[in-house]
Amino acid sequence: MLDLLIKNCIAVTMDDEAPVISGACIGVREGKIAFVTPDPADEPAKRVIDAAGKIAMPGLINTHSHAAMALMRGYADDYVLQTWLYDYVFPVEARLTEEDIYWGMQLAMAEMLASGTVSITDMYMYLPSMARSVADAGLYGNLSNAAMCFDPAAYRYDTDKVTQQNREVLRAYHGFDGGRIRLDAAIHAEYTSFPQVWRDYAAFAAENGLNMHVHLSETKKEHGECVEKYGKTPAAVLAENGVFDVRATAAHCVWVTDGDLDILREKNVTVAHNPVSNLKLGSGIAPVGKMLEKGVRVSLGTDGVCSNNSHDLFEEIKLTALLQKGVSGDPRQIPAREALRMATRAGAYAQRREDSLGCLKAGYDASLILVDADRPGLMPVHHPESALAYSARGGDVCLTMVRGRVLYENGVFTTIDIERVRAALSAVMDRLFRS
Ligand SMILES: [Zn+2]
Repeated sequence: MLDLLIKNCIAVTMDDEAPVISGACIGVREGKIAFVTPDPADEPAKRVIDAAGKIAMPGLINTHSHAAMALMRGYADDYVLQTWLYDYVFPVEARLTEEDIYWGMQLAMAEMLASGTVSITDMYMYLPSMARSVADAGLYGNLSNAAMCFDPAAYRYDTDKVTQQNREVLRAYHGFDGGRIRLDAAIHAEYTSFPQVWRDYAAFAAENGLNMHVHLSETKKEHGECVEKYGKTPAAVLAENGVFDVRATAAHCVWVTDGDLDILREKNVTVAHNPVSNLKLGSGIAPVGKMLEKGVRVSLGTDGVCSNNSHDLFEEIKLTALLQKGVSGDPRQIPAREALRMATRAGAYAQRREDSLGCLKAGYDASLILVDADRPGLMPVHHPESALAYSARGGDVCLTMVRGRVLYENGVFTTIDIERVRAALSAVMDRLFRS
């Protein structure tokens, strides 16, 4: 007996052996995909979804977010990064409480589920609260506290709040629910800490089999000041201190040298490309075409919505393809499938979930979405991958499922109480922004 049978859909599988299957049936049993085929064996199912006119694809993976920053959506637009961060973001963050983080993430995850995202690599603060929020919402989360310290004299790794919370979440949540939640080690960035911090966190990651998450060469200023200070680029100094010796995700990489790209390829680092945030903050355009040419892995992220202002990964998919075509003058760069791959399989690798996520294939987790292609903005579907990469928007997602469990369907959330989110948000707004 199947738990679920999805019938009559177009399956965009992200599996190179059978990338698009028309008239597909997708069988789900015990949270896993049992088959994706136009011609299944006759087997009863507890629920059958007739998905005629819909495209199924693997759930999207957001490999760089600060989900709780949803509380700051639209709060500080049109500033340069340094002003944005030091004058607006840091002062609000200093007032955030554990509960704010929980509800900010619930809000973000509602938006993510409603636009097709099933998994996040999220770096923020109050890590236990983050873990609780993701545990409740049902998404996958690679979660981290960002280490940040400006004063070497005041730095004590063992008693640091971030260290304490990392240890607590390592015990209580790392591997939670069959690995749905993972703890990552994280360094906010080269310019917000110093070599001892990098070495301590690299050691913590290596000892515990964790991934590493870091912001890297986001702005020209960051890159230039690092070269002035250390005589080396951020990628080089972090690599030298062991930061990339575990599976690592480096967000942004807008200002990278050829030598940096060699380091990233050799260390197998995934670049989390955040085109909307990079454009909005005026940081520039990451050389994604060149990265791929050199064999560097690239996945996609939204960054926090204070610099985006949305968690819709379909925007990032389209923009990624368009930017590289525009910059290179070559419309063949980043074809539709490649852009979709970044938001699925490449993200799964970055999260160390490549055996279970990012592909519609028997044996993978049944973590998928249905996109309604029967809408004016998507018809007609000549090429399903093109429809997803260039025409679809987050709002076209009509169903989002994680391990066979429907978390969002036609405007309804099954794990997130959106009315409670609204009420919590209104209290938070009064305290954080209107006092
Ligand atoms: Zn970021």
